[in-house]
Amino acid sequence: LLDLRGVSKSFRTAEGAPRLVLDGVNFSLGKGEIVALLGKSGSGKSTLLRIMAGLIPADGGSVAYRGKPIAGPVEGVAMVFQSFALFPWLTVQQNVELGLEAQGVAPADRQQRADAMLELIGLAGFGGALPRELSGGMRQRVGIARALVTNPDVLLMDEAFSALDVLTGETLRTEILELWDTKSIPTRGILVVSHNIEEAVMMADRIVILSSDPGRIRSEYVIDVPRPRDADSAAVRALIDEV
Ligand code: ATP
Ligand code: MG
Repeated sequence: LLDLRGVSKSFRTAEGAPRLVLDGVNFSLGKGEIVALLGKSGSGKSTLLRIMAGLIPADGGSVAYRGKPIAGPVEGVAMVFQSFALFPWLTVQQNVELGLEAQGVAPADRQQRADAMLELIGLAGFGGALPRELSGGMRQRVGIARALVTNPDVLLMDEAFSALDVLTGETLRTEILELWDTKSIPTRGILVVSHNIEEAVMMADRIVILSSDPGRIRSEYVIDVPRPRDADSAAVRALIDEV
């Protein structure tokens, strides 16, 4: 679905000097996989995700979605943010409809699709609420609904659960895996960025580790234990220790 070859990216430091954040990253997200991207803070995980979502350009290398180079946000690739990134002055319903609006979906269709998605994601009855009236977990449900309502092929989740308490994060993670494993969503590839090795091992088919200074893919693990996985099982514990 997504293919990155030799992707590099620099930012300028406060002093104006360039700093190489990603250095020749090669990465593919294949059909039917959930990949977890791990790495220390500052290793460039969010930068890599933003490049894949077409939100920022790479300086060098190539980024392709279904074989076509991307230049800007791509229909078919949706992102969920750590800080939810909701518009505070818009209702839940309006926030969810935004992505559809950008794609030129007619208002009546937008409303119907948003309603169905709010129902699926456990937000039925909250369409008229403002984000500030909701708990963090409910807000991230809105963020997830906004991404999924466009029926994305690829879902990018940047520490989508880390601003939530452990229990809420686990609940949401389990629900998303259930939607995926039961094929209730048409999404065909998921990339999750996480700091949490256990979370990665619970979710992913493959784990990719980004090293810092500069950001490069350091190692990869294939997780071949079927989901749903029991975090307390010996096999899963062994994987967590290995990663
Ligand atoms: P975290 O785990 O803390 O979220 P990360 O792996 O997602 O970290 P990035 O947010 O991708 O890391 O940042 C990588 C590096 O690039 C950091 O040093 C950061 O300060 C720098 N950086 C990111 N975005 C910008 C920007 N827009 N301007 C300047 N520097 C940036
Ligand atoms: Mg980040």
